Amino acid sequence: ALQMALYWLAGSRRQTAVAMGFADYRQTTGWPEVGMVHCTALLTREGAHDLRGDFDFRDANGGLIAQWRGVEARVLTTTPVHPTGAADLPEVRELAERKAMLSDAGFTMPYFQVHDGVAGATTHIGGREFINFSSYNYLGFAGDPAVNRAAMDAVKRYGTSASASRVASGERPLHAELEHALAGFLGCGGALTTVSGHSINVSLIGHLFGPEDLVVHDSLAHDCIVTGARLSGARRLAFPHNDMAALDTLLAAERSKVRRVLIAVEGVYSMDGDLAPLAEVVALKKKYDAMLLVDEAHSLGVLGATGAGAGEHFGVARGDVDLWMGTLSKTLASCGGYVAGDVALIDYLKFTMPGFVYSVGLSPANAAAALAALKLLRAKPDLPRRLRERADFFRGACRELGVDIGLSDESAVVPCITGSSAKALRLAQMLGAERVNVQPIFYPAVEEGRARLRFFITAAHSDEQLSRAAALLGRELAVLNRAEAEVGS
Ligand code: PMP
Repeated sequence: ALQMALYWLAGSRRQTAVAMGFADYRQTTGWPEVGMVHCTALLTREGAHDLRGDFDFRDANGGLIAQWRGVEARVLTTTPVHPTGAADLPEVRELAERKAMLSDAGFTMPYFQVHDGVAGATTHIGGREFINFSSYNYLGFAGDPAVNRAAMDAVKRYGTSASASRVASGERPLHAELEHALAGFLGCGGALTTVSGHSINVSLIGHLFGPEDLVVHDSLAHDCIVTGARLSGARRLAFPHNDMAALDTLLAAERSKVRRVLIAVEGVYSMDGDLAPLAEVVALKKKYDAMLLVDEAHSLGVLGATGAGAGEHFGVARGDVDLWMGTLSKTLASCGGYVAGDVALIDYLKFTMPGFVYSVGLSPANAAAALAALKLLRAKPDLPRRLRERADFFRGACRELGVDIGLSDESAVVPCITGSSAKALRLAQMLGAERVNVQPIFYPAVEEGRARLRFFITAAHSDEQLSRAAALLGRELAVLNRAEAEVGS
């Protein structure tokens, strides 16, 4: 209740305060086992820098449970009340205040940490080595000598930038080579690459769908799908995660009202590490004459006998998915995005999709790196299986220790669901102190109350690294759970 009161203060008064102590606490009855508790907080200002407050807690019938008197908080920051410019936009202020509250509460910022060297199974932060679970270098191709060499050769020959949209004068042989190789690997007629995976979905969905259309996506879909759908102007509906019956019902009700329908799913869900039931999605796409986009950011190089992704894993015919979208930044050790599909559709996109036509071509180094990584993937088809085996090993170790890994299965993304953001943050910092680097994830990246740590497993993680991380995770979680139980009682 105090935290909410301080949060209200931050939101409405643009002040950050930290709790200092209290005068008196009286409890009349026990806390209800279930049901609502109402809290009334009366905050008064004592001086320029101090707040006092009284809190009453009542049950659903208004019966008094407890009274907390003379709660003191110290005001730490105050920002101007009257907007004076862009920095005073409420959302800008809110972020600044949330950051201030984080540091006032004794947390260090978990984001924008500076790493040194290549991020793989280990990474270096502040001169110290950490076991690393926060990079997408799934198969270890980022930093591979062959990939580095290809990028350096490309720089020597073509310089560092394509220097123009490819439609204008940015085209280099590497672009077509990469797209040809991608299309071949994925079994599609053609492929197109752009400078970012995120922008592919935004531009692609925005380009092909409009106000007369409907975009339906899984409720856990990545931001680039949601943003693309929002900006397209199409009607946008989310169906409950992987709930095919709900998708069926939704399409039955809506299909006839619109020109086109796009169903958008992910091969592997990036926050939860589970798979879309692709064969069933394809059946619904056919039943309702919809288009289907599969985001393979976390499934290319991870799923399937040769790492060719969700299509290979589920044995889905390539032509049954209209838009196989993916990124070059994960397994392919580069930076950029791709979409693969029917040759005529890809050709249309090359001449019309804004994120391609009006944006610079992939840098030569990035195109060369992705191409070299793809060649490595083809040359080492056992790596995806090894990666999945590594992830299974970690999942097994976590489960044994009672860690809640949510829905994670078959992929290389393993969350540890903590529920509260503070717990995720604290856990990440406790693990950081033990030289395990893992990112905490909160709302809005995941649903409120579903905060988590997210572990990305790579093919290069050893048994020892995975066991140590799982053991530390189990140990630190137990410490936090014990502390919570003590506070609760
Ligand atoms: N789709 C998904 C599911 C992702 O997780 C991400 C990024 N993590 C993207 C798309 C965007 O890819 P990029 O980072 O290459 O822009």
